[in-house]
Amino acid sequence: MKIIDAHMHYYNVDGFVQVAANAGYENTAACWQKICEENNIAFSVAMGNTNYTSSKYGGVTPRMIDLAAPFDEAHYNQPQNMGYCMGVNSEAITEANAEKTAQEFERFIKDPHCLGIKLYPGYNAVYVNDKRHWPLFELARAYNMPVAIHTGDTAWPSGLLKYSHPLTVDEAAVAFPDVTFVIAHCGCPWFADAAEVACKNANVCIDLSGLVEGNPKPLMLLERQRGFLRQLHTWLNYIGNYEKIMYGSDWPLVNIPLYIWMISHVVPECYHEDVFYNNAVRIYSKIGKLLEKCGG
Ligand SMILES: [Zn+2]
Repeated sequence: MKIIDAHMHYYNVDGFVQVAANAGYENTAACWQKICEENNIAFSVAMGNTNYTSSKYGGVTPRMIDLAAPFDEAHYNQPQNMGYCMGVNSEAITEANAEKTAQEFERFIKDPHCLGIKLYPGYNAVYVNDKRHWPLFELARAYNMPVAIHTGDTAWPSGLLKYSHPLTVDEAAVAFPDVTFVIAHCGCPWFADAAEVACKNANVCIDLSGLVEGNPKPLMLLERQRGFLRQLHTWLNYIGNYEKIMYGSDWPLVNIPLYIWMISHVVPECYHEDVFYNNAVRIYSKIGKLLEKCGG
């Protein structure tokens, strides 16, 4: 089965050295390419994390990816079999610079590998539907790009969960019915809330990244997380539409064969091709052309 990883990180930061080691990896570009070859991953979507400071219009610049090399506007530096979502530093956006911020983001959209926008509520103390994000949502609408949103648990305790609860996506989805919003991590652990928001709003999808970390033994994982995985299965079924669900890993946080195996257990087999591949091609609509180029 060919796979698209619709949510991973390609980010050069000290903390990820240990995080990757816990999952059995090195946080390097070479390691990711080897994983792709070994696991039949044809394409991946990296979430931008690295601040890019070269502002042109006086707005807040997007966060980009820099694992292969420092981000360079002339060359972009990501592999052919990867696209990225521009990360949003919401706390730096103000009413005064919000339009200029959208201009900063717009100049990267000409890059065929630029697939969408990523918000980090919870890490940023700003709600999804805060008006400072609206010029970015208008940009997403104009260019038919999805907006992925971190939801649920935060990786460190200084995060604020009231901003990352999946229910907060509902208001943005209603305000911008022509924009596709992706609830990342299925709102973990608020699966029911994420499922209801995706079920009610035609323009809301879900990615299944980041639900487990490290490299636990498969049977131990099934035993210890039995209730957790059953809940996930129950609420994905509640949505009743597997075309809204995408596989993603959150690499380097988790061992990839283990994670593929786990999601294969949760998602009914008849939906595997959609969840592991087809839905990402449809939702991140620029992937199709890139796949033609890289032979995916
Ligand atoms: Zn992530």
